Amino acid sequence: MKIFNTLTRRKEEFVPLESGKVKMYVCGPTVYNFIHIGNARPMIVFDTVRRYFEYKGYEVSYVSNFTDVDDKIIQKAREEGVEAEVISRRFIEECKKDMEGLNVKPATVHPQATQEIGGMVEMIQTLIRLGHAYKAEDGTVYFRTASFPEYGKLSHKNLEDLQSGFREIKVTGEEGKEDPADFVLWKPKKEGEPYWEAPWCCGRPGWHIECSVMAKKYLGDQIDIHAGGEDLIFPHHENEIAQSEAANGKPFARYWMHNAFLNIDNRKMSKSLGNFFTVREISEKYDLQVLRFFMLSAHYRSPLNFSADLMEASRNGLERILTAADRLRSAKAAASGETLTDKEEANLAEAGKLKEKYEAAMEDDFNTADAISAVFELVKLANSTAGEGCSRAYAGQLLELLETLCGVLGIRTEKKEEVLDEEIEALIAQRQQARKARDFALADRIRGQLSDMGILLEDTREGVKWKRV
Ligand code: AMP
Ligand code: ZN
Repeated sequence: MKIFNTLTRRKEEFVPLESGKVKMYVCGPTVYNFIHIGNARPMIVFDTVRRYFEYKGYEVSYVSNFTDVDDKIIQKAREEGVEAEVISRRFIEECKKDMEGLNVKPATVHPQATQEIGGMVEMIQTLIRLGHAYKAEDGTVYFRTASFPEYGKLSHKNLEDLQSGFREIKVTGEEGKEDPADFVLWKPKKEGEPYWEAPWCCGRPGWHIECSVMAKKYLGDQIDIHAGGEDLIFPHHENEIAQSEAANGKPFARYWMHNAFLNIDNRKMSKSLGNFFTVREISEKYDLQVLRFFMLSAHYRSPLNFSADLMEASRNGLERILTAADRLRSAKAAASGETLTDKEEANLAEAGKLKEKYEAAMEDDFNTADAISAVFELVKLANSTAGEGCSRAYAGQLLELLETLCGVLGIRTEKKEEVLDEEIEALIAQRQQARKARDFALADRIRGQLSDMGILLEDTREGVKWKRV
């Protein structure tokens, strides 16, 4: 299996640290708002990478964090007059709902920065002890980039260029830096902001340290894959390497994977530019499977432009696959013979070649675009050969293959039944009845049933409200 490694700028054969196991860390979102579909790209891409490893029989430990202490979270909390924690808790929950809609598997662990401060303090202490970090007069602790000769190896930047570049930009409050390329590990507390105690001063961690600490705690000093969007290469991932390797004395991640941007009108979709759609907004117009399929229709290292036309094309493409799966299901149910005809044997050999083609595409740095082409070829084969008069075994085997190949991409092949408003209202009325009769077990079952149908209930003072998620 070949993976393009940002560190070496080459496709390299994947060799795990430990045979049969993959340790992966994917930088997660800062939780101060609903995630936008740009944030969804790394989630979908690296969930697919994980699924492919699992398909190959690897045991994958997948860690993805939530950054729950940050200026933007604090700002939002101020606007609403609540604690920062209220904001982060709310948007972690909302993010998890979006992930579920996108069929992104929950990580093995989803650590949160605020729960890991002890580990961060410890790592900063180690860095200070080893001379890789220092405390400035105001209590800020900086990483001493000059103490780590390999600084710049991921982003292929040269420390001297960085120093002169940073010298141009004077950041107020950072006068205590020894070197303009040094970066913050810990900053002193400010009035009205959350803070934690540390040997240097009360305050909060800089952004980069959390990932070094969480990766170490949940995966170990050395990991196989570290991933995220390409905007994280510098400075975030460069700084993570410096922190982890300086503190642990070992190479950190073997393979660094970065997805290209999801653009809109050829500009990066981002909160700050205001040119974004949230996953939630898209879910009101499309089944989120369509969004997932759209994201995987391009190679993860190619920029992808979001447009209604391309979403429409993805919807049609996906529909073609789901219809073929439906037809195979009906053919399987209608047919009886378990013995394959010679022609069917030959066709299954053809299908086997398409499976190989699919795998070859995935093994070439997860080329999901080519893998999807192989799925379409399989659909074509199924549409032209499975149907009335085919054997049960034939329809069954083609269906199983189609389901497996789609499953690795995180695409479910069952069509979602369109749920009618009246059906939902009727179930809600039944649940209200059950509650009145104090049959809470039944009421909960109905809530669960609605949730499986993608309907979320909210009990408010004005009664029960519902929405599709
Ligand atoms: P953030 O919440 O900004 O830290 O972003 C969370 C993840 O989404 C990171 O891996 C980012 O690199 C990624 N990301 C943000 N915007 C985009 C975009 N427009 N396209 C692709 N990835 C993005
Ligand atoms: Zn990170």
